[in-house]
Amino acid sequence: MFEVTNQPPPLEPYNVFASDTVLREAVAREQAGWADDGLKALGATLGKPETVKLGFDANKYTPTLRALDRYGHRVDEVEFHPAWHELLAIALRAGLHSSPWAEPKPGAHVARAAGFYLLMQIESGVCCPLAMTYGSVPTLRQAPGIAGSWLPKIYGREYDRRFMPVGEKTAALIGMGMTENQGGSDLRANVTRAEPAGDGTFRLYGHKWFMSAPMCDAFLVLAQSPKGLSCFLMPRWTPDGERNAIHILRLKDKLGNRSNASSEVEFDGAYAELIGEEGRGIPTIIEMGNYTRLDCAIGSSGLMRQALTQALHHARHRTVFQKKLIDQPLMENVLADLALESEAATVLTLRLARAYDEDDELSLAYRRVVTPAAKFWICKRTPYVTFEVMEVLGGSGYIEECVMPRLYREAPVNSIWEGSGNVMCLDVLRALARTRGAAEMLAAELDGGGDRRLNTFVQRLRDRLQSPEHHDESQARALVRELILALQASLLIKHAPVAVADAFCASRLEGDGGAAFGLLPRGIDVRAIIERASPLS
Ligand SMILES: Cc1cc2nc3c(=O)[nH]c(=O)nc-3n(C[C@H](O)[C@H](O)[C@H](O)COP(=O)(O)OP(=O)(O)OC[C@H]3O[C@@H](n4cnc5c(N)ncnc54)[C@H](O)[C@@H]3O)c2cc1C
Repeated sequence: MFEVTNQPPPLEPYNVFASDTVLREAVAREQAGWADDGLKALGATLGKPETVKLGFDANKYTPTLRALDRYGHRVDEVEFHPAWHELLAIALRAGLHSSPWAEPKPGAHVARAAGFYLLMQIESGVCCPLAMTYGSVPTLRQAPGIAGSWLPKIYGREYDRRFMPVGEKTAALIGMGMTENQGGSDLRANVTRAEPAGDGTFRLYGHKWFMSAPMCDAFLVLAQSPKGLSCFLMPRWTPDGERNAIHILRLKDKLGNRSNASSEVEFDGAYAELIGEEGRGIPTIIEMGNYTRLDCAIGSSGLMRQALTQALHHARHRTVFQKKLIDQPLMENVLADLALESEAATVLTLRLARAYDEDDELSLAYRRVVTPAAKFWICKRTPYVTFEVMEVLGGSGYIEECVMPRLYREAPVNSIWEGSGNVMCLDVLRALARTRGAAEMLAAELDGGGDRRLNTFVQRLRDRLQSPEHHDESQARALVRELILALQASLLIKHAPVAVADAFCASRLEGDGGAAFGLLPRGIDVRAIIERASPLS
């Protein structure tokens, strides 16, 4: 029998929250220090070997569609492995689907963001219905009658896996159906019809090309009513206790996000109620989009953190050429560079989450401009991080028993859904043009603290913003990248150790940072950066 040597011990059990210095500092700084105990408890649960296994199981035993029963009647149900349900139960107990709405207080969105970031690291498929439910609340509130009956269920913390009318359940989850076959970014191209039923409700006819988590209790859906594109709430059961006419045609065979079911559906006279003003469906549902976009940025930051944790753990234990990997100078460069990317993403998303807790002018500008900008840049960087970490782990990183293939396959989805990269960057241009004073307020946030590199970078950004070409769509990605790098650098200068801020400015504001990891120039204190990022296990 061969001997097993030079392999790292399992990382778990570990506390996903307590072992993350950057996250703990950000939670305290962004007014959610009160949530520390709850996050520690969640971090301990998520880092247990049995919870980690739930993530693997939920992705190995993927959901299946049961469209018809054995007699041929439509049932339109999706069956999941028990691991999926257990993970959702953990998430709802922690309030990750609605806590800031159910129990508003300073730091509530930040605390929930931190919890979401933790869960994303262990299993990200369940985060899809959680994000949609979280985002649905401001939209539902535009119809107070409907909100009155649905919100108490959305606030419920006892996950209820049963497929039955919401009145009989302890908690509810909400999905959304916007994307149609002929167009997802251009929602005005929607052709699903909403016909008035004569009693104030509507019946929907049409097809949605993507509708994820189809076992949610209701969906926010766009459809063309007599007054134009409108937003509707479409429950899985009608008020008469019948299955609503939502027919699941198939489940998508996806690259990643495999624990989650993403379906293609047809509505055949499905019962629905109007939300918001008829004919103003896009502004109504866009309220939800801001929150789901925020979650894309938070979630991708979580994916980066999990990848980094895996890399640091492996490198600390694996010996190559008589030295631990973590002590090899070139690997130190790679690991420190990955840590910078992760820390910059984490501090920015938690700062952005705080803007959702506050209502001053700067927070409104931050929400409106930085949400799509952060979604673009952070989600765009995540596939590179997961790929690099896979390589840190060598051949084992490419094998399915390791979490890295799952993280790698998951990484692109946040960039595509809820507004793909270009759409996000064009939205930033629109937001800058329409939000009075936004550019000036954000520029004022970019305090370089005397750092020459940031000051020069910000001056270039200001020039770009003031130039007549700043509306030039072809340059939108370049502008958004600069805005995010400047915000990240400024946050790191204010709040991170000098080694981190200095390395970020040297590599991202000057130099080749971003082309690949491991290009940090000489003179960076890579040891200090790695130590700070290392999980404390
Ligand atoms: C796993 C998964 C789950 C999903 N779940 C849901 C769901 O639950 N509900 C739902 O409604 N949708 C869902 N979607 C759909 C997703 O939101 C859309 O795919 C996305 O919005 C893009 O729309 P599209 O596929 O029609 O691409 P298109 O709109 O055709 O866009 C294609 C490309 O063109 C770019 N583009 C668009 N407009 C411009 C422009 N003016 N200038 C330059 N470039 C432009 C886009 O950025 C994109 O890169 C899901 C998608 C995935 C992959």
